[in-house]
Amino acid sequence: MNKIKILPDSVSNKIAAGEVIERPASVIKELLENSLDAGAKHISVSISGAGIKSISVSDDGCGMSYDDAFLCIEPHATSKIRDADDLNSISTLGFRGEALPSIASVSKFRLRTRTEDSAEGTEITVDGGRVTNCEPAGCAKGTEILVKELFFNVPARRKFLSSPEAEEKRVVEMLYTLAIANFAVSFEFSSEGKELFNSPGDDLPDSRLISFFGKSFFENLLPVEFEESGIKISGFTAKHGFSRSSRREQRIFVNGRPADSAVIYSGIKDAYASLTPHGRFPPIIILVHVNLIGCFLIIFKINLYIS
Ligand code: ADP
Ligand code: MG
Repeated sequence: MNKIKILPDSVSNKIAAGEVIERPASVIKELLENSLDAGAKHISVSISGAGIKSISVSDDGCGMSYDDAFLCIEPHATSKIRDADDLNSISTLGFRGEALPSIASVSKFRLRTRTEDSAEGTEITVDGGRVTNCEPAGCAKGTEILVKELFFNVPARRKFLSSPEAEEKRVVEMLYTLAIANFAVSFEFSSEGKELFNSPGDDLPDSRLISFFGKSFFENLLPVEFEESGIKISGFTAKHGFSRSSRREQRIFVNGRPADSAVIYSGIKDAYASLTPHGRFPPIIILVHVNLIGCFLIIFKINLYIS
């Protein structure tokens, strides 16, 4: 008798969920990235029980047709790439088609969605990976996803979660990070029905940074603007003498994605060496945008450096 069996989707999705979805903050990250990829200009997030009891993310993005709404909870279903060649030119935050089936397999999940040109929307309910209901729904253009009782069917994963306070902190941190990387999008966030921030989308990052980090923090920053051969750098850097005890406020984003770059951190350290006491960190928020020409230039310079 054969020993090898192909796992049913219900099991493989749960395994995939272990990789993609570790905690409420990872659910929020995946849902927000989908909303951003869908071109949303306004995103509203509410949680209860630190996101373990419920997470709701709604957006005014492109929404999904009835057929797409069904497909999006299937593994490896994505609208973001078509073939292997597309892997070389990804401009979206997601592309693997793993998040929604993973989330839906470890929660009580409800999707409501409508495209602009459709009079009626679609509502799909999934319970631990099993579709329990699907019907037409009256809803606004865009997508609303509700995730309740995260990990209700994988108790082992629940045990890995930290205290509700620590989980909520991670959720807020994730929201801040994505909100800073996307100044033009408006974000609303509430926990237990209490609004924690409501940051209008405008191209000026000032109001957002003030609401996240406070006025005195913002007043201690200087704007940075630099552009050369396909590489654009914008953001803020600490004024002389302004420093923090941790790196939490050194944030780097490359093409909208948060990036942890030892090279950039050490560049900041060198630049501020004579201005910042040992063990202190100058706050810096840097958004790097690199286009194809910029990428070639960087690769060319690295090659020159290596050879
Ligand atoms: P990926 O983002 O890697 O494609 P996901 O599982 O996160 O995979 O989403 C699957 C698909 O569902 C996406 O490719 C997209 O077409 C659709 N989708 C998910 N969320 C939204 C949303 N908020 N608005 C519009 N379409 C969405
Ligand atoms: Mg995604």
